[in-house]
Amino acid sequence: MPTTRTRSNTSRPPRAAKPVAPAPLHVVRESTIQGRGVFARTAIAKGTRIIEYTGEQVSHAEADRRYDDAAMQRHHTFLFTLTSRIVVDGFVGGSDARFINHSCDPNCEAVIDKREIWIEATRDIPEGTELAYDYGYVRDGTETAADERHYACHCGAANCRGTILAPKDPELPAEHHAKARHTDHVVG
Ligand SMILES: [Zn+2]
Repeated sequence: MPTTRTRSNTSRPPRAAKPVAPAPLHVVRESTIQGRGVFARTAIAKGTRIIEYTGEQVSHAEADRRYDDAAMQRHHTFLFTLTSRIVVDGFVGGSDARFINHSCDPNCEAVIDKREIWIEATRDIPEGTELAYDYGYVRDGTETAADERHYACHCGAANCRGTILAPKDPELPAEHHAKARHTDHVVG
């Protein structure tokens, strides 16, 4: 399997989203999930585009060259698959979206619209709530027990599936398993 993983791409068409608010809707601070997290600076309505996930656009091969999850204590990259050819490396010039943690019971989702990745609220989010989306790291079917441990989830959600990897669901179309690598790099 690839040595690194990217956050998964959503295959659903983007919904009509509200315009991005002029002032930031988020703030970065320490998270109880892991490292730094991103929190709602104000109440955020369902469907709001909160922040764009930006960074340097590189090839999958370059992303693999840059990061080796297997050699890391935890999954610690900031990669998000945009297309089958392009990975966005949020560590290089990326927005605060790279700090958004994974949750198995998320209040946001990542939507790709015209080659842009946007984090959108899937619920009404109260002020002060940590933002999260489901990373759904791509599986390629060769995951070992060590891989499963490496990507274990501790999000604390009642419905936590126990892994940051995508659910094992053979019924899902291939796009759901599109390359996705991510990890929250080591932050202070
Ligand atoms: Zn979880």
